[in-house]
Amino acid sequence: MAAPAKTTPCAKCGRPVAEGAKRCIYCGAFRFTSAPGTPEREAEEKEAAESERKLKQQAALYRAGMGIPKGGPKSDKNLANIVKAIIMLFINPFAAIKHIKAIFRP
Ligand SMILES: [Zn+2]
Repeated sequence: MAAPAKTTPCAKCGRPVAEGAKRCIYCGAFRFTSAPGTPEREAEEKEAAESERKLKQQAALYRAGMGIPKGGPKSDKNLANIVKAIIMLFINPFAAIKHIKAIFRP
């Protein structure tokens, strides 16, 4: 069996997040893996902004299409759960790619 996935604390909320995850599964904070001021970091920042935009777009689509009642504290909670689910969708493909890369690395 493989060893349990390594985790590092989230920079924003401090909870343990898988090392390969691009986003914190708890608060959704984007996690940069490269040093500031490098081209890699710039690419990551662009990616973060892009996925942020997509997240907001998808959250708006879900909110419009899923018949969540307007107003009231309950709808805020529902939206938070939907956003979390969308974040998970973004995390998993990245984790999968990292795992695939790790397999082919010596
Ligand atoms: Zn976090």
